[in-house]
Amino acid sequence: MNLLIMGPAGAGKGTMSEKITEKYGIPHISSGDMFRAEIAGKTELGLKAQEYMVKGELVPDEITIGMVSNRIQQPDCKNGYLLDGFPRTLPQAVALSELTEKLGIPLEAIVVLTVEYDSLMRRITGRRICPKCGAIYNIYSLPSKVDGICDVCGGTLKQRSDDTEEGLKERLAEFDRQTRPVLDHFADKGLTKEVNASQPIEKVWEDVQKALEEFQ
Ligand SMILES: [Zn+2]
Repeated sequence: MNLLIMGPAGAGKGTMSEKITEKYGIPHISSGDMFRAEIAGKTELGLKAQEYMVKGELVPDEITIGMVSNRIQQPDCKNGYLLDGFPRTLPQAVALSELTEKLGIPLEAIVVLTVEYDSLMRRITGRRICPKCGAIYNIYSLPSKVDGICDVCGGTLKQRSDDTEEGLKERLAEFDRQTRPVLDHFADKGLTKEVNASQPIEKVWEDVQKALEEFQ
């Protein structure tokens, strides 16, 4: 299947992507990984992208689309692909639709993970991280045995500086502003399926599979 997964940070895109990858035998292509691989491989597109990035400028869409085009034609995409983190804007979405249609591997479904505000709030603002061993806790759903102390190594747990209600509100507003036109573009094509990601992980996965079956 040729898929795209979307959703705000904290919606559990990574977890669902892993499960989709496993079940359908398709690679998870995150735009961040794709950029890093192109740059590390010093490909023509990677080097061009790097020129913009070192100047702190946005990489032009044609470069990014070129990378996506190369990537989804690799042999590991013979059963399809799962894109993540791209497209972010309407022009990118339009370009992606055109590209995949031209290549004869059009997008077949867009999984949109939605989260209820309160649930996302608890997930983000409750998150505590151990800087020593990397263990992750949540004061609401996965507290450490002793408040503020890591169960594994005894380190002092820290909260990331942007894991606050204010930071979350800003990120959600930005996500909505940027992605609404992208979602509308794919919804017009009848490709989107929303899944409530505020549910327990097993239930989310069940709903994602149900959604994908409808498109098969
Ligand atoms: Zn620790």
